Amino acid sequence: MSNQAPEEVFKSIISHAKEYGFVFQSSEIYDGMSAVYDYGQNGAELKKNIRDYWWRSMVQMNENIVGIDSAIFMHPTIWKASGHVDAFNDPLIDNKDSKKRYRADVLIEDHIAKIEGKIEKEVEKAAKRFENFDEKMFRSTNPRVQENQKKIDDINARFKDALEKNDLAEVKQIIVDLEIVCPISGSRNWTDVRQFNLMFSTQIGSVTDESNTIYLRPETAQGIFVNFLNVQKTGRMKIPFGIAQTGKAFRNEIVARQFIFRMREFEQMEMQFFVKPGTEMDWYNKWKETRMNWHHSLGFPQNMHRFHDHIKLAHYANAACDIEFNFPFGFKELEGIHSRTDFDLSQHEKFSGKKLQYFDPEDNESFVPYVVETSIGLDRMFLAILSQSYKEEKLEDGSDRVVLNLPAFLAPIKCAILPLVKKDGLPEKAREIMDVLKYDHLCVYEEKDSIGKRYRRQDAIGTPYCITVDHQTLEDNTVTIRERDSMKQERIAVDKAASIVSEKVDMRAALKKL
Ligand code: ATP
Repeated sequence: MSNQAPEEVFKSIISHAKEYGFVFQSSEIYDGMSAVYDYGQNGAELKKNIRDYWWRSMVQMNENIVGIDSAIFMHPTIWKASGHVDAFNDPLIDNKDSKKRYRADVLIEDHIAKIEGKIEKEVEKAAKRFENFDEKMFRSTNPRVQENQKKIDDINARFKDALEKNDLAEVKQIIVDLEIVCPISGSRNWTDVRQFNLMFSTQIGSVTDESNTIYLRPETAQGIFVNFLNVQKTGRMKIPFGIAQTGKAFRNEIVARQFIFRMREFEQMEMQFFVKPGTEMDWYNKWKETRMNWHHSLGFPQNMHRFHDHIKLAHYANAACDIEFNFPFGFKELEGIHSRTDFDLSQHEKFSGKKLQYFDPEDNESFVPYVVETSIGLDRMFLAILSQSYKEEKLEDGSDRVVLNLPAFLAPIKCAILPLVKKDGLPEKAREIMDVLKYDHLCVYEEKDSIGKRYRRQDAIGTPYCITVDHQTLEDNTVTIRERDSMKQERIAVDKAASIVSEKVDMRAALKKL
């Protein structure tokens, strides 16, 4: 697989996801809908397990974090207060020749990523050439690296300035000056840059007029803010404390590409942590570290993640960064960590006319708490895990296999139970074992095709264990258990099977790393 171009690997992952029941294009029989996807039988399980891992690491592992489930529909004034009605925009630009629409900021970011790619190649080349290679020294002294770094810094500075002034003509000028071409037409024939609001709206009730317009929530966070006092009072929560929630969010994304990376309907896992004003930077740094540890706890190589500090802070934030993941199409945002100050709660106080304050019994004072937010896309996390786990292997006997090296506790199916042949009482014995294991784990029973083919099918969906029932099982009540990654088989007593599987798929080991 290492010889394949990243685009080819990405294509293989997408077709694998479809072929093995992970992700389907929405409404496929009607030719599909762009940027909307359905999760199939294995995808739904994997997604559920990721959500569960996030939820437990937040809510179960932290005594001061609780979870809620707020509605998708909310009072329309909420989106006015949060700033989404006026400012939840993306700058869009069209290429007049291809008629394709792009996000202007993404065009510029992609251009920067290309220059970054040149720097990385230069570093890689040098690392191969010199023994005792000092990467830091090389980056700070090599003229070509320096020149490219300066280009990046200049573009960033200019872009940041344009965004801060909301100067869309300047954003277009940057695209023109950088000679960015449309990837489809190859031309530089661009329209002006315009702002486009990403919220979907619909009508509530039977009368259609302006006052009945409501929005599909573009983030789950606001459902937490407007319930801040409900939760604080009923849960008798003391600051600092957090409220977590997972759920659907909707954005009318302009550029719909890269599979489930950018969807119009997606799921977020968000946690708002309410703190005393003045302590927010400490909590921001703590949550940065905690969230990075969470990603590392899945056991993937650490160089697959990096922090990216925001150059332009949103109007409500006093610090913000992304955790980026090295997707098959490069490093991109997977999770955002934002110090949101008291912006949201203060805005809701202003627009609702209700106090949203916390009374601190120790200091005998009331204040609007500050908030540190962690916000991760479940679908993006799914894609990160899928692309990191997907392996095409050449085995010693010359055959090929595709395997998903998923962390065992995330695997859709935990154990497959396979009678060697479809006769001689083996299916009945296998069913007996299944009837024991199914109370603890999602298991499958399969009797069709050769045992080798059945193993391969389970490897392809990431099943950690296969238990094979053969004639010896009937004599001495033993089975073979095959482990996915090593493909090693071991003969064990039937009554050991449940505990072996349970130990392997237990989430505890990962949670303990946090
Ligand atoms: P981007 O810059 O990629 O559009 P964003 O900065 O707008 O993302 P946030 O508003 O910070 O994203 O949302 C938090 C998280 O929600 C993101 O880190 C991402 O994982 C996820 N997310 C946002 N938009 C989408 C989308 N259209 N499809 C899937 N996941 C998304």
